[in-house]
Amino acid sequence: MPRKKLKIGISACLMGIKCRYDGGAKPVPMIYELLKDKVELIPVCPEFNSGLGIPRPPMRLETSSRGTRVKVIGNGEDKTEVLADWIQVELNLLERAGIAAFIFKARSPSCGLRGVELFSPSGKSLGPRGQGLFAAALVRRFPEMTVCEEGDFPGAAEKLVME
Ligand code: SF4
Repeated sequence: MPRKKLKIGISACLMGIKCRYDGGAKPVPMIYELLKDKVELIPVCPEFNSGLGIPRPPMRLETSSRGTRVKVIGNGEDKTEVLADWIQVELNLLERAGIAAFIFKARSPSCGLRGVELFSPSGKSLGPRGQGLFAAALVRRFPEMTVCEEGDFPGAAEKLVME
């Protein structure tokens, strides 16, 4: 019987799906090419899948007395709760689907795994100190899971298929 392929989650825009705030994508064909024979890639877009729409206003991570928030640049609208509610449901689905790893889009306030630019409430950059809301929640929920960003390829491919 053929061996079942590993299931690996991936930020959908990296697969070429046009789900970014501006209606574009950020495809990295190398990821698909390196993994397509060995794994099933499951695309996930926290911002689109939580109902924020395409196109949508760009957002950023901001500090606050209630912890890090995801806010619309320009009008300060707080989208943290919308995203957080969806994230809880999605993490349950991913667990049930049995994903073994996740490949994140770097620098996104939702998907960035590390070094996402963080801002003060007044809009001052505090440097690349943040982690995207979805990435942070996934890592908290599945601390043993292998996670990486597109910049970790091609090296990350070997690690992922060893899962
Ligand atoms: S970085 Fe994440 S939230 Fe942003 S478009 Fe890509 S998949 Fe969607």
